[in-house]
Amino acid sequence: MNIILMGLPGAGKGTQAERIVKEFNIPHISTGDMFRAAVKDETPLGLEAKSYMDKGLLVPDEVVIGIVRDRLAKDDCAKGFLLDGFPRTVPQAEALTATLHELGREIDYVLNVDVPRDLLIGRLTGRWICPVCGSSYHTLFNPPKAEGVCDKDGGKLYQRDDDKTEVVAQRLDVNIAQTQPLIEYYSGHGVLRTIDGNQDIDGVFADIASLLRG
Ligand SMILES: [Zn+2]
Repeated sequence: MNIILMGLPGAGKGTQAERIVKEFNIPHISTGDMFRAAVKDETPLGLEAKSYMDKGLLVPDEVVIGIVRDRLAKDDCAKGFLLDGFPRTVPQAEALTATLHELGREIDYVLNVDVPRDLLIGRLTGRWICPVCGSSYHTLFNPPKAEGVCDKDGGKLYQRDDDKTEVVAQRLDVNIAQTQPLIEYYSGHGVLRTIDGNQDIDGVFADIASLLRG
């Protein structure tokens, strides 16, 4: 089962990834981990990637896809894998399709955990912090007993700039714009599956599991 997991920030992708790999016994391949491992193991492509990163440059696609190819060719991926954080662009998706083809494989499902933008903004902007003790609250998930006030010491809660609606909405819209062409690409390949992410964690996972069990 060869899967790509997609989802905007706040959609709960990380939690679902953990549960999918556990339930279906496939490796979780996140771009960050894959890069760190290639650099640490000093593979030829890892060293090449490092030379770009050391200069503060973006690692070119052919190096990125090479690292992905090396990773997917490993034994633990024989029965499938969950790709997370890759591909990010249509050229990367095309390169991945070609690489998998060389390995005699293909993507079975692209799972897109879908949550309406307004709800994502609510999830991503809900964090409030106490300036006195540093306690963190969330208006949706962990609200203080009295609005705007720390339970422990009465400190007046504040929001970090990064958690403010304007900043979050802008970051989200950049993400949506980048993701849309990928969604269209995989939709065109007939492998895109939209998962309703506007449920609790168990509900989202139940939908994913029943889809993957076919
Ligand atoms: Zn406090």
